[in-house]
Amino acid sequence: MLMKLKTALCTILFTGLILNGYSQTTKAETVKAKIKIEGLQNSEAMPMLSELSDVYGQRLTGSREYLAAANWIGEKMKAVGLDDVHFENYCKDCRGWGIKSFNVEMIAPNYMHISAYPLAMSKSTKGIVDGEVIHISRIRDLEHLKSQFKGKLKGKIILLGRDPKPKALTGDISKTYSDADLETMEKQLVSKNKQTPLPKLLKSWETSDVSDKEFLQFVEKEGALAVLKTRSMLLGTLHPDGTYYYKNNDYKPLPYFTIMPEHFGRMLRMLKQGVSPRVRLNLDTEFYKEPQNNVNIIGEITGSDPKLKSESILIGAHFDSWHSGTGATDNGANAIVLVEALRILKQIGYSPKRTIRMGLWGGEEQAFIGSVSYAKKHFGDLGKTPNKASTKVSAYLNLDNGAGAIRGLYLQQNELARPVFKQIFNPIANLSNGALTIENTLSTDHETFDHYNIPSFQFIQDQLSYHNVTHHTQLDVLEYVPENDIMKNAVILAWTLYALSEMEESVPRKK
Ligand SMILES: [Zn+2]
Repeated sequence: MLMKLKTALCTILFTGLILNGYSQTTKAETVKAKIKIEGLQNSEAMPMLSELSDVYGQRLTGSREYLAAANWIGEKMKAVGLDDVHFENYCKDCRGWGIKSFNVEMIAPNYMHISAYPLAMSKSTKGIVDGEVIHISRIRDLEHLKSQFKGKLKGKIILLGRDPKPKALTGDISKTYSDADLETMEKQLVSKNKQTPLPKLLKSWETSDVSDKEFLQFVEKEGALAVLKTRSMLLGTLHPDGTYYYKNNDYKPLPYFTIMPEHFGRMLRMLKQGVSPRVRLNLDTEFYKEPQNNVNIIGEITGSDPKLKSESILIGAHFDSWHSGTGATDNGANAIVLVEALRILKQIGYSPKRTIRMGLWGGEEQAFIGSVSYAKKHFGDLGKTPNKASTKVSAYLNLDNGAGAIRGLYLQQNELARPVFKQIFNPIANLSNGALTIENTLSTDHETFDHYNIPSFQFIQDQLSYHNVTHHTQLDVLEYVPENDIMKNAVILAWTLYALSEMEESVPRKK
């Protein structure tokens, strides 16, 4: 009798478990199928990204173009049905800057139009000016340099830097991870990248980012007309990132350009042959104080579970860009993937247990100023113990590695999170390898949230031509965004958000 009762109980319990397990699986499978249908058959990712990058264009921190694009994407977020869409100001004294017109050309010993772009925050020239080119190879040892060039720079145009090494013109311009690459990353035992504590990192940038200031002040005082520098990039790319003088009272550099490595190389070789090229240029820029341009863009799908809705999953991507391209790969594509993932979840009628909140950050290129401001406001000062609200964020996910396909996740040394993401990626093995590496990837906004002990991650994405062609260059444009990749990324992200929102427990923390 006792035996029989036990057997009967076991049978009921077992059947219940199976049924429960079965219905769970069915629900997840159905949601997954719906996400795929909406994201792969009705995708709005590419039309949105084309409008953002082609129509609105560059989104330099502090600029009017940034705000125009922010207004546009805020309306999109409302249109897809997000809750509580709003702006949060991240900087009261970050200034705006824009280019009205410029031109750079060599006029002697013969004519060459110079492919150039002004560095942000450069002052205007006084109309059209021209001068002889003089070479300064490096700005280290400023005292020596001052004694060497004092009295010799009046009316000159400075070619600054050493001969750019052309990158290999053979081999693949575009790189995707092979299965073997991903396997190596997964097998990595410890992280190679060492993370600098956030306050220390931000402090170090305050000085390193403005290390050319004294040099620029010296040459300007000596009467130089402009500075032309370059970067070793592939095939005629311009790389005008920097400068970092973005606060209202910061220094305003003299006309300061980056030029194509090949044009730099030619003029440098002429100088070595004793021929001084003459360059004519003009630059018309404007500065303005419009703190209203400095906004993070926030929106959410509010959680619905009585117990879990006080918790959230936070996702972020920076919305600002450098100014010579249209910021399509850095980081327009990923900003759009966030909106598209939430559009998919709204469209399939999913009501998350935990709140899914997104943040599009400004000022990432200037030192994470947008995300740091958000984190300080919501989770407490950098130097203090993170507040209670930070403990309610189950995880922060960041996207900022170009426009390539998501191939997995950097665990940021959070080994405890590996089983969680393994479970998330396993059911979507046909969409992503789901490689999980212990590695710390650095230099973007997840570092901000990691500082607050929020489990923070950045996705592994195929590099494509990000590192040698598009990153911060004039070729950061829509042509380098594969439509299939961003469609797939939005599906992967929507699925990941669904899974994280449904979990019983929150994602394990490092400390
Ligand atoms: Zn970026």
